[in-house]
Amino acid sequence: MTHQGSGSWSCESCFGPLDAVYDWEALAATVTAETIAAGPSTLWRYAPLLPVEAPDASMPAPGLTPLMPAPRLADRLGVNRVSLKLETANPTHSFKDRAVAVAAAKARELGLTTLSCSSTGNLANAVAARAAAEGMGCAVFCPAELEAEKLVATAVHGARVFAIGGSYDECSRLTVELASELPWGFVNVNLRPYYAEGSKTIAFEIAEQLDWETPDAVVCPIGSGALFARCYKGFRELTKLGLLSREPPRMYGAQAEGCAPVVTTFERGAEQIVPVRPQTLAQSIAIGDPADGDLALAAARSSAGQLISCPESEIAAMMTLLAETSGVFAESATGVCLGALARAVELGAIDSDEHVVIIVSGDGLKTPGPVAGLLEPIEVQADLKAVLAHLTALDHNGHDRLAPKLPALGAAG
Ligand SMILES: *Cc1c(COP(=O)(O)O)cnc(C)c1O
Repeated sequence: MTHQGSGSWSCESCFGPLDAVYDWEALAATVTAETIAAGPSTLWRYAPLLPVEAPDASMPAPGLTPLMPAPRLADRLGVNRVSLKLETANPTHSFKDRAVAVAAAKARELGLTTLSCSSTGNLANAVAARAAAEGMGCAVFCPAELEAEKLVATAVHGARVFAIGGSYDECSRLTVELASELPWGFVNVNLRPYYAEGSKTIAFEIAEQLDWETPDAVVCPIGSGALFARCYKGFRELTKLGLLSREPPRMYGAQAEGCAPVVTTFERGAEQIVPVRPQTLAQSIAIGDPADGDLALAAARSSAGQLISCPESEIAAMMTLLAETSGVFAESATGVCLGALARAVELGAIDSDEHVVIIVSGDGLKTPGPVAGLLEPIEVQADLKAVLAHLTALDHNGHDRLAPKLPALGAAG
């Protein structure tokens, strides 16, 4: 890693992003399944594979989130096995806690005292919580029209929330300018090489939780493209260490139709990503000019996967399908993943005998909007006869279980 201080995060000769460099030969000799298993029950069990030292154990640490089987969802999709990587189990309910844990460790090492970021919501939430735990100052730059849930969950930690009248891409440009004016740690600007590395620990965990096997396919949302590209990088690094008993999985990236610049580039077989103006329900992945779009394209291509979009009109139905079949209420971005997965199955890209892992990147409680209309409470007095009368109206025979509502599979099913 050649990154120094808080002010240089790109190469001085080519202006390309800097990236962490590891000595794989030395690591392969020292990092084993046993040394990892002996580590803490957090992402810091992979500390030798990260570009920073693990912080003090008193800090809240993300990682080692559940990998949950979802057999009813698998049945519904016509796939042998589906597992959900529940990133909702992290401290602020999204995978962004991983990226921030690594960036914050570097910020501390550099002696920085204020954390900042541009954000589509979850990152602001994770940065604000982390800064509070570290006793650091915090300011975040978000589009003013984000979900109120995400802005409140950020403000509560004492962060200054700048609500920008503009898109995420405008917030992002603003923080790039601010980073050369202020001595702050902008996690996704001057600390980006560290931030980006945090997400690969999801791949490490999936492999470890499957006893160092890999699934056939991983489905993951794409905003900036960092999460998707780094998941693939994580699997490849395990191959370099000789830890995997199979090839890395095929990587399926999902974008919402209203903001699909990486998917359209993939479909055209092109290289150059043309920025778009986002018009999507899935706010956390509403990035029209994705910083790591090229890395995401490369990951899909070299893993023999695909990039697929989900129609806006299916996002709510897909959130509902997941909740009704698995008991997991995930974000709109996960609805987008399910839509893309249903399409991949329909296209024959995923076989009926395969194992698919879906990265559940964020929590539905932060994006209830698309499914809010499902709440149709049965209003009744606290009176036995009145309730029984309602049940008769619901075709309930008084003995049997209440039949579950059948989830919609949307137009794709
Ligand atoms: C940030 C975010 C993404 C996209 O991650 P990128 O690294 O920007 O591609 C996906 N899902 C959720 C819930 C997010 O918060």
